[in-house]
Amino acid sequence: MKNYNIAAIGGDGIGPEVIEAGVEVLDALAKADGGFAFRFESFPWSSQLYLDQGHYIPPGGLEQLKAFDAIFFGAVGSQKVPDHVSLWGLRLPICQGFDQYANVRPTRVLPGVKGPLANGKDIDWVVIRENSEGEYSGVGGRVHRGLPIEAASDVAIFTRTGVERIHRFAFELAMKRPRKHLTLVTKSNAQRHGMVMWDEIFFEVAKDYPAVKWDRELVDAMTTRMVLKPATIDVMVATNLHADILSDLAAALSGSLGIAPTANLNPERRFPSMFEPIHGSAFDITGKGVANPVATFWTASMMLEHLGEAKAAARLMKAVERVTASGVHTPDLGGTAKTKDVTRAVIAAL
Ligand code: ATP
Repeated sequence: MKNYNIAAIGGDGIGPEVIEAGVEVLDALAKADGGFAFRFESFPWSSQLYLDQGHYIPPGGLEQLKAFDAIFFGAVGSQKVPDHVSLWGLRLPICQGFDQYANVRPTRVLPGVKGPLANGKDIDWVVIRENSEGEYSGVGGRVHRGLPIEAASDVAIFTRTGVERIHRFAFELAMKRPRKHLTLVTKSNAQRHGMVMWDEIFFEVAKDYPAVKWDRELVDAMTTRMVLKPATIDVMVATNLHADILSDLAAALSGSLGIAPTANLNPERRFPSMFEPIHGSAFDITGKGVANPVATFWTASMMLEHLGEAKAAARLMKAVERVTASGVHTPDLGGTAKTKDVTRAVIAAL
């Protein structure tokens, strides 16, 4: 029997609630499958820890994480800590420290879920977000604070290595999908250096993948295409910031932020990859027991796939889809079910 060591980081807000549900479902799945088991270790890294002890990740924490097969992550963000402090304190050190440069965000309207679009059934996308550089490089500064001459800059750093590897990843993934279509999303009319390099490297990489049909779109036009012509999209690749925004739109179009999963992959497997729902800590519903755990279950399915358990991953998604189709929905989807009800229903379906 295979044993997988998983680091569970619930984080803030509804993060611990959905991770607890995810752990329960994964344990039930392992029991039902019989071919593998999980050993979860919980890490209490959160904004509360930061407020109490001055750090999210304790000294040596990243080193500790390296030993795990994968990281199962909830959410980070607190009303008591500025967002840029919490993001740079917990999520980004893991993504960037472990070179998880490929952020993969599948989007579909699950059975029984009603998205806002009349033609929502046409949505079957994967958003690929460059996850290691670009607008999130952290390069920049602020001078003359509080004076009329105050100035601030954030510099987006794009490297040939960083851009080429995300394009290759996107083409490889598009190759594996039935439609084999990839859309390059940039803003190379306005940003004439980094974005033009993105385009150029994409055209070079495209030559190695003649089986993939591709097109390109400016990021602003992409938002309207996602709403008006969803069937024309299969896989899209975009920068760290652009894809962050597009994937929130994609999540909303799929019915709820509570459904959308994401994988932060280190494709070369030199470091553990991290799996998380795309939603944040959602303070408005924290502690009420109504957080939708579906995004976390879908995330868990992506983690299984990464671990090499494709059959179990598909089985979990089938169970989740049976439950969404049956109408056991949390309030974000218009239902009255609690997190526990959805969790129990998925375990029963398994
Ligand atoms: P953060 O600042 O950490 O990103 P946030 O509260 O600003 O968090 P999100 O958590 O991403 O933003 O979500 C926005 C809203 O969507 C939430 O306030 C909540 O109402 C809803 N939402 C998000 N995730 C879920 C979920 N899993 N189940 C139900 N509703 C959700």
